[in-house]
Amino acid sequence: MSKDYYAILGIDKNASPEEIKKAFRKKAHEYHPDKGGDAEKFKEVNEANQVLGNPEKKKQYDQFGSAFQNGQAGGGFGAGAGGFSGFQNTGDFNMNFEDLGDMFGGFGDIFGFNGGRQSSHQKNRGRDLEMPITLDFLEAAHGLEKELIFNKNVICAHCQGNGAEPGSKIDTCKTCRGSGQVTRLQRTILGNIQAQTTCPDCGGEGKIYSKKCSVCRGSGIHNEQVKIKVKIPAGINDGESIRLSGQGEAGPQGSPAGDLYLRLRLRANQKFRRQNYDVYTEETISVSQAILGDKIDVETVNGLVKLKIPAGTQAGTVFKLRGKGISRLHNNGLGDQFTKIIVKIPTKLDKKQKQLLAELNL
Ligand SMILES: [Zn+2]
Ligand SMILES: [Zn+2]
Repeated sequence: MSKDYYAILGIDKNASPEEIKKAFRKKAHEYHPDKGGDAEKFKEVNEANQVLGNPEKKKQYDQFGSAFQNGQAGGGFGAGAGGFSGFQNTGDFNMNFEDLGDMFGGFGDIFGFNGGRQSSHQKNRGRDLEMPITLDFLEAAHGLEKELIFNKNVICAHCQGNGAEPGSKIDTCKTCRGSGQVTRLQRTILGNIQAQTTCPDCGGEGKIYSKKCSVCRGSGIHNEQVKIKVKIPAGINDGESIRLSGQGEAGPQGSPAGDLYLRLRLRANQKFRRQNYDVYTEETISVSQAILGDKIDVETVNGLVKLKIPAGTQAGTVFKLRGKGISRLHNNGLGDQFTKIIVKIPTKLDKKQKQLLAELNL
């Protein structure tokens, strides 16, 4: 399920950061629940702003949004709800405090949608991980499945994440009396507000275990080597990243896992250079091929193609091979290849060749 964040904010894909900000403010005012607006829409507008208002996320969204939707990059992507396309982990909807504070006069925290659960929930989320991945030029052009092996915090299998030694005695948490929630008073410009937050002592479980898990010592998580398979979509380029939702570290006490970001690096290729989805190459031909014309084989990322060299082709001429470049993400066709012709001028001629050339007087 991919959302069109541009449509949600009612803006064009080419909108400037200023226009995005303006559109967000307008819509947020319109839908703000305190002003009788639609809370769901308000949430959506916020979500859209969080992605489009953040250059990094916006780039990823523009790049991968529909790629994930059309299944081009299925498989290992997006273990969490919405996968890559959404940036919306419904569970950890993230209010943009900065913009809201600015808008409504600066109350520090947000309350409402999820009660106070939101802020503590955020803190308890597992850490995001970042991993550099280096690919060969052609691997990136064609896409591939890659197995990643790395260490991360995972939910402890011995205690299943609750931190208690299996079979040990369980008591009700005294701090929250078993509710898992504590109420704290918060001062805001709108007056004092009672906010519910997760109990710090039991982590929201409402229970205290008499014996901590012998494997994870009560944390509910432990570090382990994991193997995951990811599909790298064809067309990915140097410097781009892939977000694998929920593939980061497990959070404490069963809170949601963080995300895993793969930062892509491409090794240089001797034959091909790349700009966006277009490929640049050079081919060398002889003087007589340049003068008389010929048909030559040209290497492309998808194999050899025939190129007609017209008679009288000048050195440095660039031929465009339409659709012979790199597959665009979004399943959006292929880039082009631009092949520059180098004419090889012979340096060693025998006496007869020299004589003939002199007679031709080219
Ligand atoms: Zn408690
Ligand atoms: Zn454990």
